[in-house]
Amino acid sequence: MNNKVILVVLDGLNFHIAQDCMGYVNGLVEDNQASLYKIQCELPSLSRPLYECILTGVKPVQSGIAHNQVTRRSQWESIFSLAKKNGRTTAAAAYHWVSELYNRTPYNAVEDRFTQNEALNIQYGLFYHWDHYPDEALFLDAEYLRRQFDPDFLLIHPMNIDDAGHKFGLDSRQYRNTARRADIVLSDYLPTWLAEGYQVLITSDHGMNNDHSHGGTLAEERDVPLFVIGQRFSHQASLVKQTEICGTVCELLGLSHDKAFPREILR
Ligand SMILES: [Zn+2]
Repeated sequence: MNNKVILVVLDGLNFHIAQDCMGYVNGLVEDNQASLYKIQCELPSLSRPLYECILTGVKPVQSGIAHNQVTRRSQWESIFSLAKKNGRTTAAAAYHWVSELYNRTPYNAVEDRFTQNEALNIQYGLFYHWDHYPDEALFLDAEYLRRQFDPDFLLIHPMNIDDAGHKFGLDSRQYRNTARRADIVLSDYLPTWLAEGYQVLITSDHGMNNDHSHGGTLAEERDVPLFVIGQRFSHQASLVKQTEICGTVCELLGLSHDKAFPREILR
């Protein structure tokens, strides 16, 4: 066991699709190695506002990151900034909006796609700006960062599930099959991560609707999964809020922080 954390944000993954289509991670739940919590995402159910919510614990109506076109940097302490302040190493393989929120904005692919700079909140980054950037490639990017730089906190943020939802809608074989493929990719990496003692959280920013979009208050847009896997988790029933993911990760990392987290979720 160590106190390192991997946070996987599968963009645009609805709770029921995660429950129905992701056989490997649900198999870990059945085998008592993982727990699945249903989370209601904060509002609006949009990507950039909820990246900020997951990574700072601040909901969009308070953070000021209220829609996807707000391109300024975050004004709050994040998992990245707190980890860096505590002398820990941070990394992310993520959509370029994450680089804009915590490193530099506007994103300049030539300068920012490959980031190695210990002065930044995200010290080691592999960022992308194509919604169809293959999830398989993104997970390889993340695994490169993990092996090369041994980060204490690693964010992994693939986009293909959300992309399939925008093209084909919630109730489509393409959306469901993209979730199934993500589950298979995860099954390639999770055994190694768990054997090396990482605490792993797998969640999503928001769900998807049948209008090929999201942003409102429908259950299918708001209900997202939170899988927690690792020895530090209690696997006790609990109500977890999206605003508490940040504090949970900070606590797992052993950071000094003032973020809220559900104590009963941890041992
Ligand atoms: Zn989307």
